[in-house]
Amino acid sequence: MSECVFCRIAANKQQADIIFEDKDCLAFEDTNPQAPVHFLVIPRTHIETLLDAEPEMLGKLMRKSADLAGQKGIDKSGFRAVINCGRNAGQTVYHLHVHVMGGRWFAWPPG
Ligand code: AMP
Ligand code: ZN
Repeated sequence: MSECVFCRIAANKQQADIIFEDKDCLAFEDTNPQAPVHFLVIPRTHIETLLDAEPEMLGKLMRKSADLAGQKGIDKSGFRAVINCGRNAGQTVYHLHVHVMGGRWFAWPPG
């Protein structure tokens, strides 16, 4: 899956503003931020969508999303952690990722 942009970032073959990495996952700034804070948390391995993810990995990604929200200072004010899954949800990169966004108020329901 060398053409997958997030696999390339995970393999250090493509530049990204990485804010965290360990053996299982990494987090980096979104290049098209939709909020003052907007980063992505991804598994190191290529998993296409939420439908393909094991519970253990999902737990790691969500726990890390919350921890990094704290590190970014958006935990107290509130933030959104979103996984887009498939066409109708607007998924454009088919490598599982959690969007973590904060620093502004978010409408509900989302558009
Ligand atoms: P989604 O629509 O849920 O698949 O979100 C994909 C996200 O990945 C979008 O917010 C893009 O701005 C972001 N994105 C795409 N390519 C890169 C990249 N090379 N580095 C960082 N973020 C990216
Ligand atoms: Zn990938």
